[in-house]
Amino acid sequence: MEAGVGTLVVGAGSAGLATAAALVKAGQPVSLLEKADQIGASWAGRYDSLHLHTVRWLSGLPGFRIPRSYGRWVARDDLIHYLREYAELSGLRPELGVTVERIERAEDSGWLVVTDRGVRAVRRVVLATGGSHTPRLPDWPGLETFPSEVVHSADYREPSAYAGRDVLVVGAGNSATEIALDLLSVGATVTLSVRTPPSILRREILGLPIQLLGLALIKAPPGVINPLVAATRRVSVPDLSAQGLPRIRNPYTQFKETGTVPIIDSGIVAAVRLGRVRVAAATVSFDGPAGSPKRWQHSRTRRSDRRDRLHDRSCAACGPPRRA
Ligand SMILES: Cc1cc2nc3c(=O)[nH]c(=O)nc-3n(C[C@H](O)[C@H](O)[C@H](O)COP(=O)(O)OP(=O)(O)OC[C@H]3O[C@@H](n4cnc5c(N)ncnc54)[C@H](O)[C@@H]3O)c2cc1C
Repeated sequence: MEAGVGTLVVGAGSAGLATAAALVKAGQPVSLLEKADQIGASWAGRYDSLHLHTVRWLSGLPGFRIPRSYGRWVARDDLIHYLREYAELSGLRPELGVTVERIERAEDSGWLVVTDRGVRAVRRVVLATGGSHTPRLPDWPGLETFPSEVVHSADYREPSAYAGRDVLVVGAGNSATEIALDLLSVGATVTLSVRTPPSILRREILGLPIQLLGLALIKAPPGVINPLVAATRRVSVPDLSAQGLPRIRNPYTQFKETGTVPIIDSGIVAAVRLGRVRVAAATVSFDGPAGSPKRWQHSRTRRSDRRDRLHDRSCAACGPPRRA
């Protein structure tokens, strides 16, 4: 095989598109491979009501802004449209439906990229395959005794099938809290099962997106970030300790140690405060059928003790595995 030239970028999500566009701009030969049959496939697979919680004007890729007409909080389908347009405007021609299966060192110090459509020899490879593509359902004891359907958030699309049902949402990340609100909108009774109470932040304060605080603190040490973020919550979010979501003393340290991301409030604070969403302890097991089957019925969730927590390495219904 001839010696490789140029750069091969794997994945046509935000990172892959931005990287490939920068290489094109610099006059470098680049190829972009995407296993799905469309650009922005990770977003296309998410729930219908998904909106970015990062503000539009800080969510675009280098070179082309997200159009103002998409609003402050960009909807899923608008984002996909933007990513497609971005590829076109940047002169990218992603090869869709090509999966990279293996990458090996070539003899000439480049790389051999093995795909399901043959082998490519290239000089450089950029992996932009994303961080949350593989759903992980915890291996809960007794799960098989649960008399109804259990759905991972990656497979959840819209709430109509849950109207009037008793639903347990496991997790307290942004997907879990947004899905909880989605379910409320069709009259479901929603319980949020929380293992590690997350930090909670408003999406914006006095009209300023909270993302700006994150950017301002990007290089600050934990000793500065922790009190500032805790104070931001104290002044902008009511105390939800009585409802089961206590304030976090060191939110940044908690995030670094456990991977528990802050919730960006898009309505969950009011819903919990008003008792419309009930907060329960971590789900550690299912105790078998109780009564007639209901969708996502929670038979019983046991309060986890320290030992359970140590042995419970699973994620909640949505996020990646814990870092601890
Ligand atoms: C529910 C949810 C909400 C989010 N909200 C926000 C938000 O508001 N703001 C924000 O900035 N971020 C948000 N994120 C994070 C978001 O996922 C990232 O910002 C962004 O999608 C990361 O882009 P990426 O290019 O790294 O990965 P992805 O968008 O996941 O793209 C990776 C691409 O690589 C492709 N791929 C994977 N493996 C292969 C392979 N072997 N061969 C070929 N192609 C492959 C995939 O098909 C995919 O298209 C959210 C994430 C989730 C899950």
